[in-house]
Amino acid sequence: MHVLITGGAGFIGSHLAERHLAQGDQVYVVDNLSTGSLNNLDAFRGHPGFRFAEADILEWDALDQAVAWADRIYHMAAVVGVKKVLEDPVAVMATNMSGTERILRAIQSGGWNPQVIIASTSEVYGFNEKDSFAETDHIVLPSAGRLRWAYAVTKLADEFLAFSYARKYKLNIVVVRLFNTIGPNQVGHYGMVVPSFVRQAVQNDPLTVYGEGRQTRSFCDVRDTVVALDMLAACPAAWGEVVNVGNDQEISIRDLAELIVQRTHSTSPLHFISYKDAYGEEFDDVTHRRPVLNKLRALTGFMPEWGLRDTLDDLIERERVKNRRAA
Ligand code: UDP
Repeated sequence: MHVLITGGAGFIGSHLAERHLAQGDQVYVVDNLSTGSLNNLDAFRGHPGFRFAEADILEWDALDQAVAWADRIYHMAAVVGVKKVLEDPVAVMATNMSGTERILRAIQSGGWNPQVIIASTSEVYGFNEKDSFAETDHIVLPSAGRLRWAYAVTKLADEFLAFSYARKYKLNIVVVRLFNTIGPNQVGHYGMVVPSFVRQAVQNDPLTVYGEGRQTRSFCDVRDTVVALDMLAACPAAWGEVVNVGNDQEISIRDLAELIVQRTHSTSPLHFISYKDAYGEEFDDVTHRRPVLNKLRALTGFMPEWGLRDTLDDLIERERVKNRRAA
């Protein structure tokens, strides 16, 4: 199979590349390296099935050709991470919406009907006080123009773009709402909690818990996420649908911090920081974010294999190896 991955040097994209190369597929990655990293692709360099283009999805001149070549497209290119979004909302709006529209137009005009995954996010559920989210739930967004929600709004626009193209041109598109994903290659620079806490614990630094740490999240190992995406793309009943992807085991951020300290045998204290100090402004944090996975399970039978403790132990070990190499 020919697989095109936009944003393929990023965290999830690089795991998709690894999975498909291991399956004997041809993999073409395009990435502008704005948040993705060449390090994530190191393992595949020189692999005969692997090709990489460093280009911005908004301007890449080989896009039409690559789209026509592909049997499967994962559109993962996006500006992500709440800190990044607050820093550069203009880039978020452009990349996340025009990039998706450009891909969809290329697919439609290519006349060939590849399987397509469009990455959306649990952020689209917005500032909703519910404790778990199903695809049929209403979306609640503050109307006061807070830029913190720019990412959710662009991804919602992407979803509607995808549904419009899927309906009008009968394209084989699945929109996936990705809940918190963790695993190797994820970095903490843009605010992601697990890589930040693991790095802090391994270095015996204080773990920076935002607010009181009572907010909860449900973390899915990326090695499970890519299995779910692969299953959904190949599932005709999922085409034209939106599907939550994640793991529904839930933990509070405070308990997560304590668990990481414990698994690391670290002396790190927990350091509680106000949202204003953490993000430089008042911030609407989502209290709970747990996926309802009935639709994913009904369509694919998917069950995650990685438990949170296994993923954390793996990440802690990798962080230790990285530190030893740097020393
Ligand atoms: N968080 C934290 N310390 C950090 C980074 C994040 O306490 O150093 C909190 C953050 O406020 C949120 C949760 O951890 O409640 C998950 O944050 P992340 O940015 O990883 O994911 P998201 O908020 O998008 O679910």
